Order: sequence, then structure tokens, then C-alpha cells
Amino acid sequence: MTRMNYCPQCASPLARRFDGGRERIACLAEGCGFIYFGDFSIGCAGVVVRPRGNEIEALLVQRGQNPFAGTWQIPGGYAEYDEVLSLAVEREVEEEAGIVATVSDVVAFRHALAGSSGGPSTNVYFIFRLNYVSGEPQHDGDEIAAAGFYTLDEMEDIEGVQGLSKWGIRQVLGSKSGSGLSVTSMGDPNTWQIYGLGEGDSR
Ligand SMILES: [Zn+2]
Repeated sequence: MTRMNYCPQCASPLARRFDGGRERIACLAEGCGFIYFGDFSIGCAGVVVRPRGNEIEALLVQRGQNPFAGTWQIPGGYAEYDEVLSLAVEREVEEEAGIVATVSDVVAFRHALAGSSGGPSTNVYFIFRLNYVSGEPQHDGDEIAAAGFYTLDEMEDIEGVQGLSKWGIRQVLGSKSGSGLSVTSMGDPNTWQIYGLGEGDSR
């Protein structure tokens, strides 16, 4: 699974070692102790809905770059290592689509092992419900080829809408705002957060 050959701490060649009940890639150099546990990443994406007459429309962006150039999905991306999830998803929605929206709750998450459809690292991907605040869809024409609000009916006529995105939108449309996991913190909300049922606030 890994292409890591040298220790990132001391640059010695890595070897296999039995540790914690299984074989792992580790550094055997005296006094180093580095163990490679694998590559992990955290992703987030936002379902932003707003009313259009008697219908509800949801925000989609079209990917301008590979992988999956041309496909449509809810806006999102990786959370930075020094960025909490709720801020990451709000940032991605604004960067990709020019929409200001605030986190309401988490409606689902996907756990995918490295090499599966989740991507190159073992990944947890959170799907958030966000409250629309302001803005009309914009796109940069590079990373994002198009952006817009569409009803589910309209999405049926768009080619290449990601199945997981449609599923996430249906999760939002079929549940009450705030009924998912909402975020709270017992410390600095910009550095650690708890997601739980019930008593979360809007951020
Ligand atoms: Zn080492």
C-alpha cells in the first residue's frame, strides 16, 4: 500500500516489523522508533439548499480538473491539517461556488479505504447541511467549470452528477435541519470540536 521507503525522521531505510498485532512498516534505526501507520485524510462537503417557489434547489459544482473532470457534485474538499471541519466546509463552499453558508449539522459520513473510490488515502468524508446566507453561484473556470442551484428533477437531466452527492442531497431534503450531528466545543472551537446529537449550536 505504501511507497514510503525511507524514514521521514532519520532517513534510514524502512523495514517490516511486527508491532501491535500486525506487520507494519517501521524504522529499525537505533533510538528512532518511527512506525508508518498509513496515509489518512479528512474530506468534507456541503449540501446548501434554498427555496425556489414551491421547490427546493441544491448547490452543485462541476469539476474542471481530473480526477473526474466534468462530473457534478456538492462543493467540498480536504480539510487542512490545521483547520476544523465546520470551517473547512464553509471555506470550500465559498471558494468553489461563491456562496456564503453556515454549518447546520452533519447528515452522513463515508469511510473509504485507500485505493477504493474514496481516493489515494484512507479517508473519512463528512457531508454537512449548511444554511444558505448569501451570494449567487460563481466559478473560477479552472478548478470549477460551472456552479448552480438545481432541483432534484433538474439534476436528473444533468449528465454526470455524482451518486453520493445526490444521496447526500436526499438525506438533507428528507430530514429536519439540525436533526443530524451538530457541532459544539468544550474548548477553543477553532481548534477542537465535538459533533453530537441535540445540544449543538449553529457553528
Ligand atoms: Zn528513523
